[in-house]
Amino acid sequence: MQLTNRDGQTITQEEETLILDSIRKWLDRDVRDQVLELEHADEYPYEMVEQMKALGLFGATISQAYGGMGLPSATYAKIVVAISEVWMSLTGIFNSHLIMAAAVERFATEAQKARLLPKFVTGELRGGLALTEPNCGTDLQAIRTRAIRDGDDYIINGTKTWISNGREGNCVALLVKTDPEVEPRHKGMSLFLAEKGPGFGVGKKLEKLGYKGIDSAELIFDDYRISADDLIGGVEGQGFYQTMGGLELGRINVAARGVGVANAALKDATSYAQIRETMGKPIGQHQAIQTKLGDMATRCAAARLLVEDAARSYDRGERCDMEAGMAKLFASEAALENATECMRIHGAYGYSKELHVERYYRDAPLMCIGEGTNEMQRIIIARQLMQRNPV
Ligand SMILES: Cc1cc2nc3c(=O)[nH]c(=O)nc-3n(C[C@H](O)[C@H](O)[C@H](O)COP(=O)(O)OP(=O)(O)OC[C@H]3O[C@@H](n4cnc5c(N)ncnc54)[C@H](O)[C@@H]3O)c2cc1C
Repeated sequence: MQLTNRDGQTITQEEETLILDSIRKWLDRDVRDQVLELEHADEYPYEMVEQMKALGLFGATISQAYGGMGLPSATYAKIVVAISEVWMSLTGIFNSHLIMAAAVERFATEAQKARLLPKFVTGELRGGLALTEPNCGTDLQAIRTRAIRDGDDYIINGTKTWISNGREGNCVALLVKTDPEVEPRHKGMSLFLAEKGPGFGVGKKLEKLGYKGIDSAELIFDDYRISADDLIGGVEGQGFYQTMGGLELGRINVAARGVGVANAALKDATSYAQIRETMGKPIGQHQAIQTKLGDMATRCAAARLLVEDAARSYDRGERCDMEAGMAKLFASEAALENATECMRIHGAYGYSKELHVERYYRDAPLMCIGEGTNEMQRIIIARQLMQRNPV
């Protein structure tokens, strides 16, 4: 059977199986045993990043024409699920990089694609998305970072925050205002591919509840000079549209992370329920625990199906903000609920830093916030619902 991505590139079912097998072998060989230590030291996994480069993950969804694997998003989502079952943080290192790459591949000029995409594939250029600012995340049209034309260049000033890969990466897709006066506001927004250099400062590493290991940083642009050749697509005013286009894939990524964390919580809870005994029998024999496991397993299955549905719709090239929104909303809430139930099933051990359970509990809320909060997903779903069903 052939699996096809939105650009018509195909892989066979056997190739997908081989890719997933090699990822699982890597996770078992080089990752699983190191997670607790790296997590609690909040240490960047340099060695694993090199291994991810060798596995081709930095080019997973980039076209084969540019040296990438050109994977369908349905296959890519399975990779994200598998890695998130072991250590969700690792997926953030290539997820936002690939959303940046998707924005370039969909909207950049041919010259920009030829220049950038092969370097994204190898990880020579590595980064993410710089959208959020101290004053706004959801309301991106309120950003204040400003780019002013100066001959063949632009001069950029402003601050971005919470930028994944902001310290360890060397470039970002940077959303700015090129015309802060125009209405509607989105027409004054543009997206640049900004590489680190003079005027591109990195602020403090942000301390977080979970999502450890990966760097989240503040970026400060102080008279940062960038060539007009780095304006994605070469035309001002397209940045909001280009960013939103990339976020569909981003939401499928986050949903897949949710499935991975929900699955991990279910797996640990199912094992523990058969080992821990109270009142003379394994706790899994008590109906109160069985109802938890039943709900957890159902959430995992439903979340996986929603992610597959959204990914298939993306791969067919359809508009899928509703499907991606539903997958993201349900899978992230499933991760949060399963993490909580897994902790309850483990009793005091669920609260211990010697097990992974407390990490699921700290990691899960991020999926409800990132790539558009779940409050906003509900609104997007409702609007699409009415648009697709007019009376
Ligand atoms: C660990 C981490 C990594 C991140 N990585 C990145 C990154 O790589 N790049 C990047 O650009 N950003 C990143 N972010 C930022 C993230 O995308 C934003 O936090 C998110 O978009 C929400 O924005 P906000 O935090 O400003 O919340 P706000 O927009 O201030 O929202 C606050 C609350 O109000 C609700 N709300 C807002 N508007 C409405 C509305 N119209 N209707 C109903 N409810 C509403 C929200 O749902 C939320 O509950 C990251 C955040 C975290 C925590």
